[in-house]
Amino acid sequence: MKIAVAKGDGIGPEIMQAVLDIFTANKVPIEYEYVDMGKWVFDKGYSNGMTPEAQQTIEDLGILFKGPMETPKGKGVKSVNVTARKTWNTYANKRVFQTLHGVDTVFSKAGIPIDLTIVRENIEDTYGGIEHMLTHDVALSRRFITRPGSLQVIKYAFEMASKNGSKRITCGHKANIMKITDGLFLEVFYEVAKEYPHLKADDVIVDDLCMKLVSRPQEFDVVVLTNLQGDIVSDLCAGLVGGLGFAPSANIGDHICIFEAVHGTAPDIAGKNIANPTALLLSGIAMLRHLGMMENAATIENALLYTLESGVHTGDFGDKSIPSVNTTVFANAIISNLGKTPTHGARPMLPNQPATQTVFKLEENPMIMSKEPEDELIVGVDMFIESSEQPMVIAEKCLLHVGDVFKLVTISNRGTQVWPKGSVFTNMVNQYSARFESVGGAAVTQTDILELYRALMADFKICSTELLNKWGDKNAYSLAQGQ
Ligand code: NAD
Repeated sequence: MKIAVAKGDGIGPEIMQAVLDIFTANKVPIEYEYVDMGKWVFDKGYSNGMTPEAQQTIEDLGILFKGPMETPKGKGVKSVNVTARKTWNTYANKRVFQTLHGVDTVFSKAGIPIDLTIVRENIEDTYGGIEHMLTHDVALSRRFITRPGSLQVIKYAFEMASKNGSKRITCGHKANIMKITDGLFLEVFYEVAKEYPHLKADDVIVDDLCMKLVSRPQEFDVVVLTNLQGDIVSDLCAGLVGGLGFAPSANIGDHICIFEAVHGTAPDIAGKNIANPTALLLSGIAMLRHLGMMENAATIENALLYTLESGVHTGDFGDKSIPSVNTTVFANAIISNLGKTPTHGARPMLPNQPATQTVFKLEENPMIMSKEPEDELIVGVDMFIESSEQPMVIAEKCLLHVGDVFKLVTISNRGTQVWPKGSVFTNMVNQYSARFESVGGAAVTQTDILELYRALMADFKICSTELLNKWGDKNAYSLAQGQ
């Protein structure tokens, strides 16, 4: 079994060395092929932060074990971490948070055990990074939530919960406000839930979820969320179990999987050999289980738990009355404890299984689709218009150009209706959305819309447009606040 390894930037090489030393001491049956990724690769002129050879190796081997990588600051360069997750469609980001004895937290001191898994959608949402300035004052981020993308991650979460004997799976969302995007994610969640009647499936609005995770974390088991909300909630959960030094992460796809710690390159302590390698080690242990190396995983995890219980710690955690050790000494302590069993939470020793990772050769990009409804109509258009005039003036100008096909229904500013009704207390910015619907709800064509666009151009700069689609009797667009 061969995997690709990228050491990363900052503390990456130090903690990766510590983890691989522990693997070697346990005779983990893996060969490593080192690949060039990270800041220094950006600096050499590779705009995506990896060399073509690195990309080929990772696509051939199917598994990447990576240290944290720095994204150069400034415009025009995207994070290599996000690029890797998206390019290789690692649609599920799994982060396990468990009480570790020897790592004191308010919960461990109160005797409240934590054992929860966050599954975060890893490709879509605002992480598409599709952003534009529409006017000098107005920035827009397009937030994609797709049915097939949601299906992939939610199915993964249910399958994992079912296999692990979980009791409860919860969808975190904000579908009360983002009715179409988060509404779609939630709808897919309950569709998939029907296939797993033995699991208690429920949903919690994400702000309430944050409060409940902090006040009663022991009540949660598996939580599945969209990308940005999942990112924030999983860092909150890292705080529950002792901080980023204990937060592992697995990026799971059908073809390629990436295992890494949640934390970054920790530039403030890089090069000092004092970083805590636990999060990367836990990520590596998850990788071993993914590859079927159950016995190696349990032996190393038990040695880690034993070491933590015995009070050995790096400077970022643990009993301050016991002097901290550096990264190498911490790793050596784990090595010397291989074969020992912790008092609390010993992992069961299962035999190694044949490797489950299959390397796929793809001929073309997979198109993931769900069936479109047959009776799909375009019934209007939202025109996003740059203007600093008052709503009534915008309306008068729009009405001049509306023609016979369309009627002007509403004008909104930052999502709040300002015409035909509104409040003079609504602050505005120089970008409006004018909604034109077809007269009598009839179908319109893209040519009708183009003619309306041409007519409006006489009075306005149009920044962008969105079609108003109707599927059967369902409007595929939201209402403005107050409409
Ligand atoms: P960070 O996670 O690197 O550091 C935050 C704080 O936690 C720092 O005080 C640091 O010293 C501490 N810390 C982090 N990991 C630690 C460890 N293993 N042991 C002890 N202390 C640890 O976050 P940041 O400073 O916001 O980001 C630094 C760089 O890392 C940025 O360039 C960012 O883009 C990148 N980053 C990469 C990843 C990744 O590769 N997946 C994730 C997050 C951030």
